Amino acid sequence: MGEKVGIAVMGASGRMGRMLIDTVTESDRARLVAVTERPGHDWIGKDLGEALGRGRMGVPVMSDPLDAIVKAQAVIDFTSPEATVAHAELTAQARCVHVIGTTGLSEADIARLDAAARHATIVRAGNMSLGVNLLTRLARQVAAALDAEFDIEIVEKHHRHKVDAPSGTALMLGEAAAEGRGVPLADVADRGRDGITGARKEGAIGFSAVRGGDIVGEHDVIFAGPGERIVLSHIATDRAIFARGALRAALWGQGKAPGHYSMASVLGLG
Ligand code: NAD
Repeated sequence: MGEKVGIAVMGASGRMGRMLIDTVTESDRARLVAVTERPGHDWIGKDLGEALGRGRMGVPVMSDPLDAIVKAQAVIDFTSPEATVAHAELTAQARCVHVIGTTGLSEADIARLDAAARHATIVRAGNMSLGVNLLTRLARQVAAALDAEFDIEIVEKHHRHKVDAPSGTALMLGEAAAEGRGVPLADVADRGRDGITGARKEGAIGFSAVRGGDIVGEHDVIFAGPGERIVLSHIATDRAIFARGALRAALWGQGKAPGHYSMASVLGLG
């Protein structure tokens, strides 16, 4: 077996950050070389293991992302859009692999990631799980097979702490369905219904968001036609699926040319 790939995890104390720390430390192909938190966070300067309430791990929690990036061959980033865009400028300088799970990125943010991807190997997905990436393909195929008599609706459910809506995964599924229909999602997306909205627009792709409790993530793509309905569903019950996908992307990216890749490339889904 070759040498283990050095991984930096940004946003160590977050829900995904903690999951990523466990996934990387348990892997026999990767090792955790650095972690960060946002400036001012009370973990900064502490040993990661002690901050987590476990034994010493010998990995300090850093606030300067560059200090972490220069130690790593791959950076895994599930933080905030602002932090992720700033990190990408640094991973471009360091010419390393940058796996981005952060959602809620604007068009302008994505343009900045595209610019960084001239030098960094970026793998970005609104959902890093195998199941959702397969579902995305299926949604594209079903949308291509059905005409506009079938109304497409995407319903997503997440825990009460989620800050963006629709979820990155719902948007991925919407993009895939729009692609299957051969239309840009921006032209057909219907993202907020309230009050007297009028009848549904033909060809629209509707989004609804449920927020509550500790729901990890559930997505339905509904194709509602006259007299029948097709529902494609994915239910995540454990955040480990996202962390395992992210680590797989970090390992896959080693030695790949700079560029902005999707999880479909990592999973060989074309
Ligand atoms: P969270 O709020 O629990 O964690 C985010 C962490 O990032 C926090 O600890 C925060 O302090 C830290 N952070 C913020 N700014 C930072 C900075 N400048 N430097 C270092 N750390 C910083 O959120 P979460 O539930 O872990 O989700 C994080 C992101 O990942 C969200 O955008 C979420 O939608 C996304 N997500 C994506 C997938 C996927 O498969 N792509 C799966 C789950 C969550």
